[in-house]
Amino acid sequence: MDDSRVIRERKTVEEMIKLYCHKHHGTSGRELCQSCNDLLFYAYKKIETCRFLPDKPTCRNCTVHCYAKSKKEAIRDVMRFSGPKMMFRFPGLTTLHFIDGWKDKKRIEKFPVEKNHGNSKPAL
Ligand SMILES: [Zn+2]
Repeated sequence: MDDSRVIRERKTVEEMIKLYCHKHHGTSGRELCQSCNDLLFYAYKKIETCRFLPDKPTCRNCTVHCYAKSKKEAIRDVMRFSGPKMMFRFPGLTTLHFIDGWKDKKRIEKFPVEKNHGNSKPAL
């Protein structure tokens, strides 16, 4: 399993926080205000220590809510603001992120069904 998903998650969250911070806290370029910088590093840490690694689902699909309450609210604001804008600014990255999420959904939906299919194809 390669870690491209983790790299993608990191990049996605970084760009979303940047968009949010620039608009709400008057920063620009690679600059982030202190609280957004803290939030970004918190998000990085959560991605890296995710208990589902290396097969990490995208955070939206995850069944475990690993963020502390205050951080969860902060990141939710960021995503609500930046999510819709990401598609225009980073169509490639956002598309891949959506595909990751879509794959997770299929995987999650499929899992219990496959288990109960006694008379389907023989196991390979
Ligand atoms: Zn900020």
